[in-house]
Amino acid sequence: MNLKKTFVLGIKVHDLTKSEVVERINELARDKSKSNMIVTLGTEMIMAAKNDSSLKELINGAELVCADGIGVVWASGLRGEKIRERAAGIEVLEETVKSSVTSGRKIFFLGASPGIAEKAAERLRLKYPGCNICGTYHGYFKDDSEPFEHIRKASPDILFIALGFPKQEKWYLKYGSELGVPVGVGVGGSFDVLSGKLDRAPEWMRKMGLEWFYRLLREPSRWKRMLSLPLFVLEVIFSGNKK
Ligand code: UDP
Repeated sequence: MNLKKTFVLGIKVHDLTKSEVVERINELARDKSKSNMIVTLGTEMIMAAKNDSSLKELINGAELVCADGIGVVWASGLRGEKIRERAAGIEVLEETVKSSVTSGRKIFFLGASPGIAEKAAERLRLKYPGCNICGTYHGYFKDDSEPFEHIRKASPDILFIALGFPKQEKWYLKYGSELGVPVGVGVGGSFDVLSGKLDRAPEWMRKMGLEWFYRLLREPSRWKRMLSLPLFVLEVIFSGNKK
């Protein structure tokens, strides 16, 4: 697959549709001798990474970076290299689970509060009978290596990790290859939504690019973190995203 990429404030992002991301994940999952990190990129992550060389390296070194947020798609357009489609992590996750009914790829969920990843898995198993979610483990472990044995025993091909950025990406970089899990995808708060703990913005709000606003209403404690959004818009406009 020809991977076209562009940069938003110096951070790499691939121009891939959601189904292309899923296809690529399934392809990469074939070769257990490699480990490939997939980043689902949001504007908060760009703001955190643009002046932090280690975070920048973490994202720019990933095998695949897809546009999780509509702000990323918009900013890519200012360079004249507009990404065709938003590929939200949560949707990539669900489509990959769906595809496992036929592909047989084994999928493991790591992260979120105890019980949440399992609940998300239960719901997806009901929705996609025959899907191959082979295990789950919560994300509040004391020792970083705690989930290791659970994952090793389940021997997944694809690991969806919801520990927040950059903890989830760092965890995969540290353990992914030792575990022999060829694909690790950071998916932030996705299990919270898929388990029913949190709901997602209605379709019309998503279409208008207002998912961030809905999230702010549902989780007002995020307001400080979300201040990065208007700052992102200003920075992209004033820099012309030339950096
Ligand atoms: N989380 C976790 N372990 C931690 C910190 C966070 O499992 O030590 C989970 C948290 O419960 C939530 C997810 O990681 O389900 C991160 O959600 P957030 O909305 O912060 O994700 P982001 O905005 O970074 O995508």
